[in-house]
Amino acid sequence: MDNSPPNDSDVYKTLLESTKAIPWKIDWASKQFAYIGPQIEPLLGWSPESWHSVEDWVNRIHEEDRERVFNFCVQQSLQGLDHEADYRALAADGSFVWIRDVVHVMRTPTGEPEALIGFMFDISERKKTEEQLLIMQKQLEELSYKDGLTGVANRRMFDTVLEREWLEARQHQHPLSLIMIDIDYFKQFNDFYGHLQGDEILKQVAKTLAQAGVRTKDFFARFGGEEFALILPETNEVSVSKIAERCRNLIFKEQIPHAKSEVSQILTISVGAGSITPSQTDDLKTFVESVDALMYQAKRNGRNRIVVNGA
Ligand code: GH3
Ligand code: MG
Ligand code: MG
Repeated sequence: MDNSPPNDSDVYKTLLESTKAIPWKIDWASKQFAYIGPQIEPLLGWSPESWHSVEDWVNRIHEEDRERVFNFCVQQSLQGLDHEADYRALAADGSFVWIRDVVHVMRTPTGEPEALIGFMFDISERKKTEEQLLIMQKQLEELSYKDGLTGVANRRMFDTVLEREWLEARQHQHPLSLIMIDIDYFKQFNDFYGHLQGDEILKQVAKTLAQAGVRTKDFFARFGGEEFALILPETNEVSVSKIAERCRNLIFKEQIPHAKSEVSQILTISVGAGSITPSQTDDLKTFVESVDALMYQAKRNGRNRIVVNGA
């Protein structure tokens, strides 16, 4: 066994070539690779000998990343700044591997770049996790603002939007309207047709009523069980009663059979509609309760009807 101490460069070479990170060096003046670790071959399939110049590196960057990464690295190097860049590197089999290149700029005594040395790290696993996280985040966001059954906005989103529109209306002294809708005799519907059919009808009703408000700021949500709500910014009492009527007509046109309804042979809704130009002393919760009370007034008056602002 050779017990003589290895010389320094052997130690460094062994260390460099046994890490997972892939070391490399490019001579700035000639733009030629002075070195690239042998680990590059198992990762990308390109032999170390195939890395001649900067061109080879550039050509093996995914075309969507190429310009961004190249320009960034040149710019940083010219300023003598160490930097790092993430990009997809082309493998010999045509696939791509996410790489993080960490670059140190060696400079001449006058400050000119002399060489670039760096490490390439395989970050494909991390990227995969990041992508999965992004997808999950998006799903979570949708779940927290979307009603799972009907796909329209849920109560939480309704509260957020209504609060925002209330503040807008108060600040600009615009009228804000709200419509509350409840399906008539829906318990009987479920009892007769079954809960699953009830669910299907809720989807159909939501889809139908979502078309009632046509302005971009009009906002439709499932308020609860078989209750829906429509927020109508910059809409006065006259307009809101027309839109409430449109809701009733849209549902009527669907002609959904409801054999157990006591008001009709088809599915109907009761609607409360209110409008307010909020003052500093008005309270949002009180307004919502007043519109809800109008909807119950419609129920008491015989269902399948609209009550607007207590009229
Ligand atoms: P009313 O005319 O007074 O509104 O009578 P109603 O039977 O519709 O009474 P209410 O509005 O209080 O009843 C709500 C019913 O809606 C109770 C429940 O069975 C049904 N419901 C609520 N959420 C769902 C749901 O997600 N799916 C189904 N299938 N039914 C639901
Ligand atoms: Mg109800
Ligand atoms: Mg009901």
